[in-house]
Amino acid sequence: MTNFQNNKKKKLLFQSTPNPSFDPPKAGRQEGRKNFLRKVEDFVCDNCGEKVTGDGYTDHCSKCLWGKHVDFEIPGDRLSDCQGLMRPVKAKLQTSNFKYKIEYKCTKCRHVFNVRQGKDDDRELLMELVK
Ligand SMILES: [Zn+2]
Ligand SMILES: [Zn+2]
Repeated sequence: MTNFQNNKKKKLLFQSTPNPSFDPPKAGRQEGRKNFLRKVEDFVCDNCGEKVTGDGYTDHCSKCLWGKHVDFEIPGDRLSDCQGLMRPVKAKLQTSNFKYKIEYKCTKCRHVFNVRQGKDDDRELLMELVK
């Protein structure tokens, strides 16, 4: 005498219905965004130790041109907590105002940032970056 046990496996099929009211992520940008937020502050250069006197637009050392990664998106917003050293990569003359724009790359997180030249920026170093 043999007992056959028939175990039936129940398979439940759950049909997942996609949520029709899917909200796309809202852009956190505000209208009328400023290009530069003015903040007067003095700082000591992490690269060469120069004491830099800020005039509200100073975001890098005028002696060695290195900067510090403190801004997140807009120059002057001071929203980044990276604090890495920003290496000047190259400079480009802007034909609109004949001022140089310096491209920086953070040595810590590789973030790339463009800032305007400072009025006391070392001219020779600036010219080397143009090449
Ligand atoms: Zn410096
Ligand atoms: Zn960084």
